[in-house]
Amino acid sequence: MRNYTQFYIDGRWVEPSAPRTAEVINSATEEVSGHISLGSPADVDKAVAAARKAFASYSQASIKERLELLQNIQAEYSKREQELGEAIMEEMGAPRPLACGFHTMLGSGHLNTAIEVLKTFKFEEERGVTLIRKEPIGVCGLITPWNWPMNQTCVKIFPALATGCTMILKPPQLAPFSAQILAEILHDSGVPAGVFNMVQGKGSEIGTAMSKHEDIDMISFTGSEPVGVQIQKDAADTVKRVGLELGGKSPWIVLDDGAMADHVAAATAGMMGNSGQTCSAGSRLLVPSSRMEEVKKVAAEAANGVTVGDPNGNFAMGPVVSKSQYNIIQQYIEKGLEEGAELIAGGAGRPEGLDKGWYVKPTVFVGTNDMVIAREEIFGPVLVIIGYDDLDHAIEIANDSMFGLGGYVSGQDLEACRELSRKMRTGAIWINGGFDFTAPFGGYKRSGNGREWGDYGFEEYLETKAIIGWNPA
Ligand code: NDP
Repeated sequence: MRNYTQFYIDGRWVEPSAPRTAEVINSATEEVSGHISLGSPADVDKAVAAARKAFASYSQASIKERLELLQNIQAEYSKREQELGEAIMEEMGAPRPLACGFHTMLGSGHLNTAIEVLKTFKFEEERGVTLIRKEPIGVCGLITPWNWPMNQTCVKIFPALATGCTMILKPPQLAPFSAQILAEILHDSGVPAGVFNMVQGKGSEIGTAMSKHEDIDMISFTGSEPVGVQIQKDAADTVKRVGLELGGKSPWIVLDDGAMADHVAAATAGMMGNSGQTCSAGSRLLVPSSRMEEVKKVAAEAANGVTVGDPNGNFAMGPVVSKSQYNIIQQYIEKGLEEGAELIAGGAGRPEGLDKGWYVKPTVFVGTNDMVIAREEIFGPVLVIIGYDDLDHAIEIANDSMFGLGGYVSGQDLEACRELSRKMRTGAIWINGGFDFTAPFGGYKRSGNGREWGDYGFEEYLETKAIIGWNPA
């Protein structure tokens, strides 16, 4: 049982202003696995005051000092990676190898990237009579979701630290454990008091207080589109910068060639990774209509091959994060059936033999792009396959979405893949897989505003100042 009932404010673990706790439920067992305190706006005020005070000195820290700090964090993070992984497994249900592997590696990846970017980032540039300076924006409010806890927390904290900002983190109630351990790591690494603060609690209370706060200069949010809209409204009166990384309904175009079956199998299994709870998941698989029968067979086989069970066991997929997420996904599966989509794998209810825990069957539909299941973000292991007549048609379907986060193109003809990638209206495209910590990540359309990861992630936390007359004319 984990009881994390204190907040981290001004370099110390402190009691909340008013005692109030919430249970954290393990989604694999449906049992209580711990408690957190629910903060109030008074706790946010304290954290903001500490961050404001610390900003005066931390914003003046040299690049060398900030690099040393990030390197200290690197050493502490690596000591506790296994512990972080265990916490992630418990809080959101990822299978142990995924939680202790890719999940925690994403955190260290963002840390290593921030260190490398900081070594060469140009904070000043002379242009004629003018000096252009990039300066830390100030006190930042970081609001994060539960689906990739270390990824989404670290992709904000480390660029903010690298650029000289101070911050308040509000982790998700559903997955608060790993953030608590991360706060301990930052403390043990010597992060100066007030530079990093953490308050746990409800988004509708703590998050709102942060978005509206007079003394917070920017909000970086990852989560759902409706909450992103609300945050922007709440932040409007104080003219805050708001960075939003929201949802997606990302298209994955598979070309009609000799590797099609392999690509369909990989895309289907990929959709089930992290129980489908990935904002950039390729949830619409676009395949040549002329080969639909073959696609169905391959995709059904791939989905049925995804083993589901206890995150502690030897399974590819664990439960989804919560009862409410399970119910939402079940409603979408029912909706797909109602809309007349063809179910080729999975379906409603838990997988056979699992009657406890929020487990969902890896589910594949063949449908059309106008169906609700092809338009809305389901955030579960549910793939919709859609046929295209030719590549122009594939692009038309791919871009016919209110979202524009990720996109995928798989095929043997690299030039054809490149051509399609230029035409897709999404913030990131993956051609035949691949991974790059330095590539900017963010969305077009309702998938958000701004870019995280690598040097683009630094820009989120920087103001631009022009000092004209720096060089006399
Ligand atoms: P939310 O957008 O509700 O939550 C994300 C974070 O925002 C949490 O920390 C949450 O707090 C906080 N929050 C909630 N309301 C407010 C508010 N009014 N002001 C400020 N912060 C707020 O996502 P959910 O976790 O509820 O998931 C719902 C759906 O969101 C999913 O089904 C999925 O479609 C999508 N989603 C997308 C993600 C992405 O990466 N794009 C990530 C996660 C979810 P609290 O602790 O109270 O929940």
